[in-house]
Amino acid sequence: MKIDVMGVRFDNLTKQEFTEEARRMLNTGSRGYCVTPNAEILYESIRDEEFRQLLNDAALVLPDGAGVVLGAKILGTPLKEKVAGIEFGEQVCALLAETGGRLYLLGSKPGVAEQAGEKLARKYPGLVICGTADGYFKDEASVVEKINQANPDVIFVCLGAPKQEKFIRNHFAELNATLMLGLGGSLDGYAGLAQRAPKWMIDLSLEWLYRLMKEPKRLGRMMRLPKFVLLCLGAKLRGKKNG
Ligand code: UDP
Repeated sequence: MKIDVMGVRFDNLTKQEFTEEARRMLNTGSRGYCVTPNAEILYESIRDEEFRQLLNDAALVLPDGAGVVLGAKILGTPLKEKVAGIEFGEQVCALLAETGGRLYLLGSKPGVAEQAGEKLARKYPGLVICGTADGYFKDEASVVEKINQANPDVIFVCLGAPKQEKFIRNHFAELNATLMLGLGGSLDGYAGLAQRAPKWMIDLSLEWLYRLMKEPKRLGRMMRLPKFVLLCLGAKLRGKKNG
């Protein structure tokens, strides 16, 4: 079932259910892409119809952030739980490891994807990292060709939003893979360059605060979070008034 949060239709699934859906797609060869919008990205999509459409056309739309879950709750249509893209990516690695599946890592600064690949391959024996490329390329066609030569089952596209979703959409037909996941800064996390918040902060829905403390320059961007919550409150009040 899908739940609409300010125009983007999220899949209302638990972490486990998302993993099972990915397993089904891999087993049946059902092609699709997955997006992981947080509240900041969702706020951007309100003003960008093309981007919103791109998000809604995804096979799986994960609520990656406490802000999205809060927004859904305010609107009276709660989602089951927050599902972080970085964790979903690891679940997909575990699925691929079961069958010797092939993963391509695209994105982040030069050297990071290789480092992330080494760590993931060590953590998930059986997983094949079939290729890597950094996310600062000019010629998209040659990147697509390189990916196809590596023959992946899954591609992690980590270029930040909306660049990664646009890349996936523009090349979906020619990319030779079953699943394509837009995972933002996850390669930095897998490589060990960006630490996630401690568990107690994640549990208290304070992961955003941790990121802000680590990267104060994100403040401008992060102001979209309270703006997004206000928009949800406004929509809810207007909905009530209109009956
Ligand atoms: N990035 C990239 N190519 C670009 C711009 C960004 O590969 O042209 C990478 C960047 O190095 C970082 C990730 O994309 O690893 C964006 O991370 P962020 O946490 O900002 O992702 P978002 O919050 O947008 O999902």
